[in-house]
Parts: sequence; C-alpha cells; structure tokens
Amino acid sequence: MRMNTLTRRQILHQGVRLAVIGSTPALLNACTKPELHCEDVSGLREDDLALRTQLEYRDLSPHGESKNCERCAFYLAGKKNECGRCTLVKGPIHPMGYCSSWAAKG
Ligand code: SF4
Repeated sequence: MRMNTLTRRQILHQGVRLAVIGSTPALLNACTKPELHCEDVSGLREDDLALRTQLEYRDLSPHGESKNCERCAFYLAGKKNECGRCTLVKGPIHPMGYCSSWAAKG
C-alpha cells in the first residue's frame, strides 16, 4: 500500500505559495491605488481650475511609475503622506499623478 505523505520541502513550498497568493491583492492595491486624494480644488481660482482641467490632471498616472508627477520636472514634493505641488498646475498634486504637460526631471 502506497502512503500519500508530503515531504517537509513540499509543505514549505505550499506554504510559500499560499502566502504569495494571499498577499497578491494587497500588493496590487498598494501599487495601483493612490492612498492620498489630491483632488480638492475648492480654493482654486477659475483660470487655475480651467488649466488643471485642460491639462487633464489626475491622481493616478496612466503610465505608472515611469511617468508620474514625482518624476516630473515641475513637481514640488510635499511632506510624507501629503500631496505635493506643481509649478504649472495649481492645487494639490499627487506624487503618482499625471497631466499632459509632464516633463522628465533633468
Ligand atoms: S506638470 Fe503635470 S505631470 Fe508634471 S508635476 Fe505638474 S501636474 Fe504633475
């Protein structure tokens, strides 16, 4: 009669697989969902709001980390866990945000 037993290596391997599978949604969420919300434009002048809209500012870059506000020449970082600012677009700016005037830092 053949015994169906798992080796210690197989048990460890299965445990690692389950840990990776279990943490995947949280990892994906952390990479894609901005925790900050930098879209409060209540204090902006009408022309500043119009430019923000015209340049299609958004809190999450469609280009991922390769092309976001944090990597833009016009970005001014805020304190940790706070929105930054931009020398072109007025109002709160998310480090993972983006607009059509993005320019690589020199
Ligand atoms: S110019 Fe656009 S992409 Fe660059 S920091 Fe300002 S809002 Fe972000």
